[in-house]
Amino acid sequence: MSDLKPPLESNYIPPRSVPQMGIMSYPVRSADLGGGLTVVRALPLRQQRLVGAWCFLDHFGPLSFDDRKAMDIAPHPHIGLQTVSWLFDGEVLHNDSLGCSGVARPGELNLMTAGMAISHAEETPPRNSGKLHGLQLWVALPDAERWRQPSFDHHTDLPVVEPGGGHAHLFVGELAGQRSKARTFSPIVGAELNLGANAQMRLPLNAGWEHALVIIEGEVSFDGQQLAPGALHYLGPLRNGIELLAKHPARAVLIGGAPFGESIILWWNFVARSAEEIQVARDDWEQHRRFGEVQAYKGERLKSPSFSVRPIASL
Ligand code: MN
Repeated sequence: MSDLKPPLESNYIPPRSVPQMGIMSYPVRSADLGGGLTVVRALPLRQQRLVGAWCFLDHFGPLSFDDRKAMDIAPHPHIGLQTVSWLFDGEVLHNDSLGCSGVARPGELNLMTAGMAISHAEETPPRNSGKLHGLQLWVALPDAERWRQPSFDHHTDLPVVEPGGGHAHLFVGELAGQRSKARTFSPIVGAELNLGANAQMRLPLNAGWEHALVIIEGEVSFDGQQLAPGALHYLGPLRNGIELLAKHPARAVLIGGAPFGESIILWWNFVARSAEEIQVARDDWEQHRRFGEVQAYKGERLKSPSFSVRPIASL
C-alpha cells in the first residue's frame, strides 16, 4: 500500500477517559490508492491513531474484475514499520528491493519488515481469480527495532482458534493460547474472525492491552450493541474477554496490543519520530538512495508527494 495524499499524522491524543465497558465507534474514511482503487481506512483516524502498535488499517474490495489489473501499486518506500497483507479473496503479488517475491492468498500472510528502508510494489498477478478482497495493516516498530535490516516473510501455516460458533484465523501475535509464527516486535494480536449463523464466539483477551474490531461483512452484536461495517469499534483496554453474537454469518477483524507508549509521526509510507527523519527519507527516495529498486516491477516507481512541515498541536 502507498498513501497518495498523506497528511502528517501524529498519534498524540489529548487525555480522555475511555469508559471501561463502553465501545467507541469511529467512522472510517475512504482513501484513493491510485489506479482506480479506493479503500476504506480504519486507522489512523483523528480520534484513534493507534491500537497497540497497529498504526494503519486499509480494507479493499470485495472487487470482481475481468481483464484489468485491480491492484497496481508501483514501487514505493517504507521505513519504521511492518506491513501485514491479509486477503479474504483473490491474490496480491509482492515484489521488493531485496529481490523477494510472494503472492498473498486467503489464509496466507505476507509480512514485510521495512526497518531502516525497503521499497516494494503490490499488484494483481497476471494469473488471478478476478477477485480482490483484503486488508493491509501496518505495525509501528518500536524505537529499539526501527533501524533494523529489512526482511520479507510469507507464512502459510498459521493457527486457527475455534472459540465456538466459528473460527479465528490468527495472522500475527497471540490469541487464546495460540501464537502465530510471524515475527513481530511488540506484543500484539491480529486475527480474522469468522462467525457462523447464530454464533456465540467467546475469546479471551489480554486485559493489559487495548483492542478494536472492524466488521468486514454482516453484523455482530457485543455487549448489547450492534456493530456494523464502516467503523473502527474501539474496545479500549481492561477487557479480559469478549463474547460476540451473530444471527447470520459475519466476518470481522480483531486487532490489539500493548499500548505502544511511544509518539510516532506517520507521513506517506513512513513511520518516524521527527519531521527531519521524514524529510531525509523522502529525499533519499527521490534521489534513488537507501531504498533500492524493485527490479521485478515493470513500470515507473511512485514519486513522493511534496513534504512541508506544518505545525501540529501539542507535538
Ligand atoms: Mn506499501
